[in-house]
Amino acid sequence: MNSRRISMAEIAENKIPEIPDSGNFIEEFGCDVFGMEAMSEYLPKPVFKKLTETMQSGKALDSAIADDVAHAMKSWAIRRGATHYTHWFMPLTGASAEKHDSFLEVSENGKAIARFSGKNLIIGEPDASSFPSGGLRSTAEARGYTAWDPTSPAFIKRENGVATLYIPTAFCSYTGEVLDKKTPLLRSMQVLGSQAKRLLKCFGKEFDGSAKVTLGAEQEYFLIDKRFYVQRPDLMQTGRTLFGAPPQRHQQLEDHYFGAIKPRILSFMSELDRELWRMGIPAKTRHNEVAPAQFEIAPMFEEVNLAVDHNMLIMDALKRIADKHGFACLLHEKPFAGVNGSGKHNNWSISVGDVNLLNPGADPHQNAIFLTTLCAVIQAVDKHADLLRASIAGAGNDHRLGANEAPPAIISVYLGEQLSDIVEQIERGEAKSSKRGRTLKIGADILPELPCDATDRNRTSPFAFTGNKFEFRAAGSSQSCASPNIILNTAVAEAFDEISSVLESLPKGADFHGELQKLLSSIIRKHKKIIFNGNNYGEEWKKEAAKRGLPNLRSTPEAIKPLISPENIALFEKYGVFNKAELTSRHEVFLEEYERKIGIEAGLTLKLARTHIIPAVVAYFEKLGKAIETERLIKANKKSKLAEQAAKISDRLDSLISISDKLEAQMSKGESLPKIMETMAELRAVSDKVEGEIDNELWPLPKYCEMLFIY
Ligand code: ADP
Ligand code: MG
Repeated sequence: MNSRRISMAEIAENKIPEIPDSGNFIEEFGCDVFGMEAMSEYLPKPVFKKLTETMQSGKALDSAIADDVAHAMKSWAIRRGATHYTHWFMPLTGASAEKHDSFLEVSENGKAIARFSGKNLIIGEPDASSFPSGGLRSTAEARGYTAWDPTSPAFIKRENGVATLYIPTAFCSYTGEVLDKKTPLLRSMQVLGSQAKRLLKCFGKEFDGSAKVTLGAEQEYFLIDKRFYVQRPDLMQTGRTLFGAPPQRHQQLEDHYFGAIKPRILSFMSELDRELWRMGIPAKTRHNEVAPAQFEIAPMFEEVNLAVDHNMLIMDALKRIADKHGFACLLHEKPFAGVNGSGKHNNWSISVGDVNLLNPGADPHQNAIFLTTLCAVIQAVDKHADLLRASIAGAGNDHRLGANEAPPAIISVYLGEQLSDIVEQIERGEAKSSKRGRTLKIGADILPELPCDATDRNRTSPFAFTGNKFEFRAAGSSQSCASPNIILNTAVAEAFDEISSVLESLPKGADFHGELQKLLSSIIRKHKKIIFNGNNYGEEWKKEAAKRGLPNLRSTPEAIKPLISPENIALFEKYGVFNKAELTSRHEVFLEEYERKIGIEAGLTLKLARTHIIPAVVAYFEKLGKAIETERLIKANKKSKLAEQAAKISDRLDSLISISDKLEAQMSKGESLPKIMETMAELRAVSDKVEGEIDNELWPLPKYCEMLFIY
């Protein structure tokens, strides 16, 4: 029996682990978070008050209270079983980073004590030299520092009974340039928040607190049995299968989506939810996704900074708990060719006070704010479609975008029929003829009820209005949500800024709503080319989009170029989100990451072809040869079908060997990546054919039909 068959036999005998009932999940929620409840219990009242003010305002922590906060945090963490703490940060690798220090110190008389000072809490100094910085920090001046972000509470992460205190932090170089994904996100939130308040002031609304950008990130993932995973070097090293033919049956019957969840999966999901809840992550929805072995988890939305941190923790928990349950969790955007890949739907909105600016209100005044915000988003997405595309670029997502399963690489906005009609009415202003014989008057008319149920939703659009939020659907499953939200926040802040400037300059006594109507009408005229309600997967849309002048950037290197265009550098510098050096460094880091990933994939493709696939085909060829010899003994001089088959396999071998040689030559010559990728695809095509032609027993890699269906 080959190793695949042994795995299958073992999986068939699998026992589903029982999840111990560990208490009341409602009471348990957030028990491992140093949040409001723990803080008020452990901190002196005045310190608690100061700290909550800091958290709400997003201002820096007053160093006078740092020691008190640190002491309280340590006592709380130790009581909950923690021995170590770590600053937790988001370098440009896209993963999170941590370095644990114990609370332990030994005093002069040799006695152990637990210590954690205000300084330990506020600032950490990881050796930053091995993180990508794109030339921002030469290794000679390796020091970077991490600084506590009090807007994201500290928490305890548990793994196998080991409890560690995590302190969410920003990561900067000593010269002040940011080396991470969190700091620019915080900056962009602040800019958008203050522009949102400014805009609302134009409408006569003033609020004390700060505006909130909200994010709900739906996360897709695959689970396969670990016993198959460890037999797939490609999955282990690149996150995706470099070889493998789609099985006869995959997702055509559409029977997996929202199907009954299998017990072994449910057991995993249950432990996942319980663990996330303890860390204060509001996991809400779990279900089967479109592809076999594909699933989704969606938490309730939260303030964007916290939601991004929580999404990082969700990805981490998915992997860890999957492993515990004998699964491998695949977060790659396209682990399997020919079946759906995984994305991360980025549900985004802004609220001030308790008003969600993207919520069509019940009265004309609220409607006016909603419609202004809507137009601002339309302008922002049209003006900065290139940056939005750049924010979700990556080697993995390139396989997904435009592959008729996910939104194309062309960014467009979906509004739905009814909202589009309203937008057309605004565009026409006072014009009398409208599709439905009406025109909307901003500030006077009530909006019709907008449908926000699933029936009316267009699933093919990359950027869709869904009732009270926009859903950016092109983000990749493995990516941090920080980048798309940095871009969205900055682009919408710019639009708010421009709209507010016009409204603020209106003379006293001007007809506010009349002028607003004119302004929104001009915004729509200028930016309506970004609106598209049709099928984004169709070929016609590609042609239409080209006519409209919308960019269609298919691969990462071209998609990330806009990060360093002069107008985009000016945009980010104007709003203080990135400076030029930070953008140049990011461009460099992302390009290098892309090239390295393709390099690894190419090298592994060659290796697998030579060490796994070709030898298996040779073995089958040899087997055929023996059979042909036997055949000759019994029916001499007859035309042999077996020999024909052997000749065909021999041709396949010739192709596999010669394409491998070509790939090797291209790699050593340093050919362009598109050429190398073409050869990889050529090699794969032959291998995937031959997979269906040779003895199943000899095939060395677990097949799609096994990985996707046996668990
Ligand atoms: P879908 O039908 O798109 O799969 P889900 O209910 O799975 O919808 O996910 C929708 C996500 O949008 C959830 O995370 C939800 O909390 C989030 N969401 C709802 N309202 C807002 C809002 N105002 N701002 C941001 N996210 C929101
Ligand atoms: Mg969902």
